Amino acid sequence: MKNNQDSLQRFVFESSPVRGNLVNLTQTLQQALNKQNLATGLRKSLGELMVASTLLAATLKINGALVLQIQSKGALKLLVVECSSGAGTALKIRATAKWSGEIKDQQSMFDLIEHGQFIITLDPKDGGQAYQGIVPLEGDSISAILENYMLRSEQIDTKIYLYCDGESAAGMLIQKLPDTMNQMTQAQDADLWNRVGHLASTVTDDELLHLPTETLLTRLFVEENVRLFEATDTQFYCSCTHESVANMLRMLGHDELTGIIEERGIIEVNCDFCNALYTFDKVDAAQLLATETLIPSNPKVH
Ligand SMILES: [Zn+2]
Repeated sequence: MKNNQDSLQRFVFESSPVRGNLVNLTQTLQQALNKQNLATGLRKSLGELMVASTLLAATLKINGALVLQIQSKGALKLLVVECSSGAGTALKIRATAKWSGEIKDQQSMFDLIEHGQFIITLDPKDGGQAYQGIVPLEGDSISAILENYMLRSEQIDTKIYLYCDGESAAGMLIQKLPDTMNQMTQAQDADLWNRVGHLASTVTDDELLHLPTETLLTRLFVEENVRLFEATDTQFYCSCTHESVANMLRMLGHDELTGIIEERGIIEVNCDFCNALYTFDKVDAAQLLATETLIPSNPKVH
């Protein structure tokens, strides 16, 4: 079931506020990153962040994009992953990285970060309010950073297990929704949460990557009452268009664009996410500058 097609599956522990999801993202990872020239260590980190974005996006009931970014002033400048979801559609993911200098394969993200920040952006496509949270990087792994963020900023207990070796990727999330019930129930919930958390922590990379969801859940939580929901497909998708690139170019301003045209006769832009090439000749550039600059009202990556 999960061999040919990447998918995400939600589950709940019956009669409790504890829920979770599991994802396999191997094909998506390869499609998203194979056109980018990433050192192995960075590719692993970006893969983990991709897995994390699908796990978190699946817990949010939004039509729109969840963007996870790690920004730093070190050799690594930016990791960014965008996961878009809509009712009844696949989760669509794209990702990219920016850095300076030479990055070695064995260097992990954490070797390359100085004054790191974690930025989470929710951008509803149905006209709702955009949300952005910015926090310092706390934790020595991507899962720890996200668990800390969820607890401190959202007051939601979350456990996240991520695996990416650069070629395959998978993960699991377990979450306890805030309690609104009486104390008796809270005590029972706390016990379930501790038990489930302990059992979840025994999951191995091999199990995450290779076991069908039902088998894995049975193996981990054999005595618990788990209900599994239908799978959602996940896939690589880049939303860049000629118009979105034109909007970005407009922000460079008249002088900059005219300068490039005078020097090279043409403006060429490769999409950071999918490497698609967009070209603008002298006529296109003049047209582009004649149109009013469209600055997005919501914070988003281009
Ligand atoms: Zn693109």
